[in-house]
Amino acid sequence: MIPRARPNYGFGDLARAAGGVRGAGPATEALVQRLRTLLGLPHVALTPSGRGALYFLLKAAPQTEVIVPSYTCSAVAEAARLAGKELVYAEHGALSFNNELADLRPHLRSGRIYIATHQYGIAAPIEDLLAACRAAGVAVFEDIAAAFGTRVGGRPVGTFGDACFGSFDTTKLLNAPLKGGFFATADRDLFERASQAAACELRAMSLLRKAILLGAATALVCLRDPRLYKIFHTVYFRWCGRATAETGRIAERPNAFYREAFADWQARVVLPQLDRLRDTIARRRLNYRRLRDGLRELATLTLPPEDRDLAWAPIRFPVLCATDKMQYYEDLVRLGVDAGFSFTSITAPEAHRMAHTMAARVLNLPFDAALSSGEIDKVIRVLTELDGVRRG
Ligand SMILES: *Cc1c(COP(=O)(O)O)cnc(C)c1O
Repeated sequence: MIPRARPNYGFGDLARAAGGVRGAGPATEALVQRLRTLLGLPHVALTPSGRGALYFLLKAAPQTEVIVPSYTCSAVAEAARLAGKELVYAEHGALSFNNELADLRPHLRSGRIYIATHQYGIAAPIEDLLAACRAAGVAVFEDIAAAFGTRVGGRPVGTFGDACFGSFDTTKLLNAPLKGGFFATADRDLFERASQAAACELRAMSLLRKAILLGAATALVCLRDPRLYKIFHTVYFRWCGRATAETGRIAERPNAFYREAFADWQARVVLPQLDRLRDTIARRRLNYRRLRDGLRELATLTLPPEDRDLAWAPIRFPVLCATDKMQYYEDLVRLGVDAGFSFTSITAPEAHRMAHTMAARVLNLPFDAALSSGEIDKVIRVLTELDGVRRG
């Protein structure tokens, strides 16, 4: 079975990382330096997760209201609430994963922060969004958790707003066991306040947690094998009567994703991925195009937008199913193709129909750095078959 996501590291990477310390060290320092260079931003700090990074940024920001896209990761709302902020949801005017300028206009009020999200690596119209925010006195924090490496007009996303945050979750471009993240900014005061907030709340990772994370990461590497993955899928998903680990539940208080500092041994796993970053992005971009081309004629799926300028670093291939998505998922699984569900659970008000329609219809086709051309052909073949059946 083709897994829904595979980590971008192997046994060797984990073995080399295992000896790294649980605090900061040479690898965390090197990673910060590499991120600074790649983003062209002077201030970067590592965090336990993307949500943790947003949480520290928001704790450092005086604004009390935060505008978020209605269709986004529930961890964004979680971080904002934990930081004591009031949420304002910007509903989408179309079945489009990113906000458009018109979605934002009703919510622009001086003293707010807008979380500008580039979903799945698809660039948001950041220049327009930013100009409108600037004119209205709204600060902009870019959510590049899913879009590290994507460019707009030749410039990396994350460098347009006042600050940005990213993620090293297993489903993103760069993977640390089993999560991690960073915030970055050119605003020295904001950086110092956010770093101060982090210093107050972060504690060194426990030895037990390091062991658990290394064990889980080793299991993820084992699950790159399609036969082992099939067994895992049957036990963990089918027998347990679930299709996703995503619950949409919001943490009531900061958990390990906010508290356990990103460790030197985790940075050791990320660094080699930066050495092959250009290749990884080029391959993902090509795979994205091949999937789009191969699925273009299907009537029962809506494909994600085209990367016209070849400037994105896509990390998912989200499709919107015209018919019952769970039936689609089960048929896919039966034919040996797994699919992911983000973001099926969103926290926006029920009245935000576009966001909820996307959440109800979205499936993520397998799309990771290891995806081979044989696997792409199989995904296209299987979906074409299912489309034919549904069309009758
Ligand atoms: C994954 C993701 C996050 C959260 O990142 P974590 O590291 O899981 O906390 C936030 N925003 C978006 C758009 C994401 O895709």
